[in-house]
Amino acid sequence: MAKTIPHFIGGKTVEGKSGRASDVFNPATGEVSGRVALASKAELNAAVAVAAKAFPAWAAITPLQRSRIMFRFKQLLEGRLDEAAAIVTAEHGKVLSDAKGSVMRGLEVVEFACGIPHLLKGDFTENVGTNVDSWAIRQPLGVVAGITPFNFPAMVPMWMFPIALVCGNTFILKPSERDPSMSLFLAQLLKEAGLPDGVFNVVNGDKEAVDAILEHPEIQAVSFVGSTPIAEYIYHTGAANNKRVQALGGAKNHMVVMPDADLDQTVDALMGAGYGSAGERCMAISVAVTVGNVADPLLEKLVPRVRGLKVAPGTDPEAEMGPLVTKQHLDKVRGYVDTGVKEGAKLVVDGRGLKLQGYENGFFLGGCLFDNVTPEMKLYKEEIFGPVLSVVRVPDYNSAVKLVNDHEYGNGTAIFTRDGDSARDFASKIKVGMVGVNVPIPVPMAFNSFGGWKRSLFGDHHMHGPEGVRFYTRLKTVTSRWPTGIRSGAEFVMPTMR
Ligand code: NAD
Repeated sequence: MAKTIPHFIGGKTVEGKSGRASDVFNPATGEVSGRVALASKAELNAAVAVAAKAFPAWAAITPLQRSRIMFRFKQLLEGRLDEAAAIVTAEHGKVLSDAKGSVMRGLEVVEFACGIPHLLKGDFTENVGTNVDSWAIRQPLGVVAGITPFNFPAMVPMWMFPIALVCGNTFILKPSERDPSMSLFLAQLLKEAGLPDGVFNVVNGDKEAVDAILEHPEIQAVSFVGSTPIAEYIYHTGAANNKRVQALGGAKNHMVVMPDADLDQTVDALMGAGYGSAGERCMAISVAVTVGNVADPLLEKLVPRVRGLKVAPGTDPEAEMGPLVTKQHLDKVRGYVDTGVKEGAKLVVDGRGLKLQGYENGFFLGGCLFDNVTPEMKLYKEEIFGPVLSVVRVPDYNSAVKLVNDHEYGNGTAIFTRDGDSARDFASKIKVGMVGVNVPIPVPMAFNSFGGWKRSLFGDHHMHGPEGVRFYTRLKTVTSRWPTGIRSGAEFVMPTMR
């Protein structure tokens, strides 16, 4: 029997009242495993009222107390990592070890958030004028919201709420309707950790709930991660409603392979970054840009590895790659492979024929590898978000840099080389937010910040780390003089501090 997946509001689960719900699948079997409630505008508004009521008391307790609750949450989640990974795999499909790794990357943001008393210390200047002091503090915004994608149901919400909460905000999470169960698990753990009711709320839903968030006057800031068209919509609509918005979008990440690269290391990197999580990562490498004559020796090593990929349900400990998230997404990715063939790219490894015994209805696609892809092709231009890697051949380093810089996306990129000059030049000139040198997926750690350039990010703040603290707080500067100081009488001109 498919379970019902409710909301979590005011410290308890709340059944949907809209009468609308959406199927959630087990991607390995194709079976419906749950029905998630889709909130109406009225339900979203009710959740915001609860979060707004919880805000003053939560903002008033000390950062140290908030940090201690976050620390307990960290301990609870650490104790239940396997369970968390299983929840991710059950609805997303990725392999268990990868699911666990993604939860741990989220936990690192929780660890960073535990340091909030230090991060909120502010600045103080004695004697900005004679006997006049000034200090700058950062205060919470109020109710803030996070809208998250299907591909990291634990990690991406954890890029947002740990920092938002310890800064003193209350939070509404609208997770992906494709794998919503993880958010309820996190909400329960936060409650167990001692978070007061109403501080963290989960409202499940689709466009109706998202639009209600964007229009709600009480919501001060919106963090979004998802595809570029929706990110752009969220940014424009949120800003038009006077909200702070950070909206992270899609990607097409290039790995530039120089002729002097260590090819074994490069092939290992391409396998993990191209096919890990079935390519459903915003930092996945989807284009290998081969410079000079390196394509042939690279392909010689790469092709057998792609052919030998172990594709199986995410619960199989041998699996290197699981299924795609839904049938609809599988059809979309297969459609790109068909298009690539029609466009004239050479399909060197075709994963479309993959069938797994006992899992015939699962959303599986084998690894696909294209050679001779050119920049005019749809296959090259658009984000595929599946296990499809394209090789683009260019004559020299400058052509590789131009290719990366001309692409509309700018999330991540990498260069594989032994040459320090090329690596340094690449890091300096490339128009991309996150750059790897012999590191295929250069995801910044929790104490740095994550974000792309160009149409991979709308807004001026990257996520988590110091940028997260800035995003979830506003600045106040106080200038203070005590009446025992020197009297200078009424001043009718702009005061200049003496
Ligand atoms: P998506 O854009 O379809 O959905 C993201 C969120 O937006 C979900 O919560 C969804 O319910 C909501 N949404 C979907 N359609 C909407 C609409 N018309 N109006 C309002 N809200 C809507 O993205 P997805 O398929 O869940 O996730 C995959 C995408 O996310 C990829 O493009 C990937 O590159 C991107 N992503 C980016 C990053 C990053 O850091 N830049 C990280 C992870 C994923």
